[in-house]
Amino acid sequence: MIYQRVAFIGLGLIASSMAHAIRRAGLVGDMTGTARSARTRAVAAEIGLVDKVCETSAEAVRGADLVVLCVPVGAMAAVAAEIAPHLSHGATVTDVGSVKQAVIDAVTPHLPGHVHFIPGHPLAGTEHSGPESGFAELFDNRWCILTPQEGTDPGALDRLTQLWRGIGANVDLMDPPHHDLVLAVTSHTPHLIAYTMVGVADDLRRVTDSEVIKYSAAGFRDFTRIAASDPTMWRDVFLTNKDATLEILGRFTEELFALQRAIRRGDGDLLHDYFTRTRAIRRGIIEAGQDIDAPDFGRAKR
Ligand code: NAP
Repeated sequence: MIYQRVAFIGLGLIASSMAHAIRRAGLVGDMTGTARSARTRAVAAEIGLVDKVCETSAEAVRGADLVVLCVPVGAMAAVAAEIAPHLSHGATVTDVGSVKQAVIDAVTPHLPGHVHFIPGHPLAGTEHSGPESGFAELFDNRWCILTPQEGTDPGALDRLTQLWRGIGANVDLMDPPHHDLVLAVTSHTPHLIAYTMVGVADDLRRVTDSEVIKYSAAGFRDFTRIAASDPTMWRDVFLTNKDATLEILGRFTEELFALQRAIRRGDGDLLHDYFTRTRAIRRGIIEAGQDIDAPDFGRAKR
């Protein structure tokens, strides 16, 4: 047993996937959980997601030696303040938020000195939300980045690392600003671009009378999947990873203008060279085992 009791605050995609994966691996004594709405708590109880669904977060964290904050980044501070007085001595608190520095700033001031706070972010997800969207394989062979602060207890870090490895993930350590910059490139800015492209198509749809939907081709379809992601989660990502996202968006805009100019000038060589370079990145991702060579980005149909 890596932990005696794991408590999830928030019972959405990430918490439910962790719960399924933990059960698959038989890694903990028991699991508790709570969510904001009575509806989510009722669904979680009905499907037996955790051993005990609690009405309050205070009740959920009682006796837990690991507490996992699985709420949108903007809700982390309020949740930390709520659970703080009820945390067990020596417990580890971690989170799964998509931005790290903002979560550290929001959570740390509320936590008592007798707990270990080790922020984390599993690089795995889908566009689905809620307690029924989780599945045990979500983290298999994906990365989980932990961003421990100076002075973090090595034993606590080792246990949390073992848990993530036990549920299928590879673990890496990073400092929080670096995490936020890397994720701005690999996840946050691409989501914003997808949201924008689908917004543009939606405007056009009104002009073209549904042709955009009817003849939707692979490029656009892939964008719509990303742009179907949870609006609250993604609003919070951009509000809290502002600087890194703006930096990458600035670079993106410069590149876009360069390609726009090449199209205007008919500079086929530039376009061809550019697309050849980007193709190699895709090959690298497949070779690293982070996706399969399938047109749906390798996502299983669920
Ligand atoms: P989700 O499926 O939408 O679930 C969110 C959970 O948080 C729900 O149980 C919700 O309760 C609860 N919640 C929402 N707002 C709250 C508030 N203000 N106070 C208390 N509880 C609140 O979300 P998720 O995809 O699991 O994401 C959870 C975290 O993981 C986020 O921080 C996100 O950045 C991170 N993450 C997501 C992905 C992804 O692809 N989805 C990947 C990696 C990390 P109700 O259902 O009762 O509203």
